[in-house]
Amino acid sequence: MAPHNCKGCLQSILANKMSQEPQAGKSNQSMEQDINGEANGFNNSDVYNPAMPWFGMDIGGTLSKLVYFEPKDMMQGESESEIEILKSIRKYLTKNSSYGKTGHRDTHLQMDNVVLRGIVGTLHFIRFPTSKMKNFLVLANQKGMAKLVTTVCATGGGAYKFEEDFKREVNMKLAKYDEFESLLKGLLYIDKNNPTECYYWSNPTDGTKCSKVQYDFSSPYPFLLVNIGSGVSILSVNSATECKRVSGTSLGGGTFLGLCCLLTGCNSFEEAIGLAAEGDHTHVDKLVKDIYGGDYAKFGLPGDLVASSFGQMNSRDRRSKVSRQDLARATLVTITNNIGSIARMCAIQQKVERVVFIGNFLRVNPIAMKLLAYAMEYWSNASMKALFLEHEGYFGAVGCLLQYHGET
Ligand code: ADP
Repeated sequence: MAPHNCKGCLQSILANKMSQEPQAGKSNQSMEQDINGEANGFNNSDVYNPAMPWFGMDIGGTLSKLVYFEPKDMMQGESESEIEILKSIRKYLTKNSSYGKTGHRDTHLQMDNVVLRGIVGTLHFIRFPTSKMKNFLVLANQKGMAKLVTTVCATGGGAYKFEEDFKREVNMKLAKYDEFESLLKGLLYIDKNNPTECYYWSNPTDGTKCSKVQYDFSSPYPFLLVNIGSGVSILSVNSATECKRVSGTSLGGGTFLGLCCLLTGCNSFEEAIGLAAEGDHTHVDKLVKDIYGGDYAKFGLPGDLVASSFGQMNSRDRRSKVSRQDLARATLVTITNNIGSIARMCAIQQKVERVVFIGNFLRVNPIAMKLLAYAMEYWSNASMKALFLEHEGYFGAVGCLLQYHGET
């Protein structure tokens, strides 16, 4: 696409210039802010802003996450027909909260009055199953996106897998960005722009006292980032630009959902979580007290600790008494505890105390969050903290949107 020079974009270029004026005396802190996802809202380069509409996509193994930036004022300087299409796209996306049968906008996550590339606007957060990508492309065509958008910035494995489909079906190119870099950039940007983004669970095992408590994440380094999507990736983060993948496991959110569907006949993540909320995993798992008759005190193992996940299910009698709810709960506990255990070992190895859990496995899933919170605190003698973020699954999509400046 040719360099874009509508009035709004020229204003943002001017703003960029102004924000970069005092170079000589620029502090390290402000340098870092520039790097770590446009904390001040202005981009760092002199490239023209890409034409509206602005989208960032993270095409994952299970869910595709789409972030849409809605400018507060309609950009001036576009042609009349472009403005009409822009308006109709904006109206369609912002007046609905579901799209087709499977697309959803997470209205509770919407962020108003954020500044992106010098423009004030609202971030909207939309998700749909990656298996419905064909339907998404048909919809994009119907809504006129293909007429306006020539390039979409994208991250996640699907940015490679679906590249040809985007080209063939809607004549759009994908500007691809690294998944982990996008994740980190998006996370830092959202946290800076949302004062209530980061939190922890206090008293996670006490139903009456347990509560969400805000956490100041403004000086976060070093920390461990545990992304629980279909699978799990664990990153060690030392600065806004320094992160490495230190571990991972294929036993992630996809495993929970897959096993739950097999064991209970449920058909959705929401259904699986609903069943788990009503189940009791101790009917399924073998606990320390099932083996020892109580605690294994010598090694500090409480009787209620799971000694063997699903360890009761070899008994036909036990199997005949177990409910779908119990099986769903045991699956959730098994997968979550395994992730918690790997994360804790990584935190020890990397010598970090803060462990941030993100990814859509944590969506509508307080049971898993509280289990992780309890496990991290208990097994580290309270030296480690499990932290959570409100926009749990959307950081990759935001991060690639931040990095895109119109290049194809
Ligand atoms: P990915 O990028 O691998 O798709 P996500 O961070 O989007 O990863 O998380 C995917 C996981 O989130 C699923 O495996 C499932 O455990 C959980 N999940 C949450 N909401 C849904 C949903 N509506 N449909 C399917 N899975 C969901």
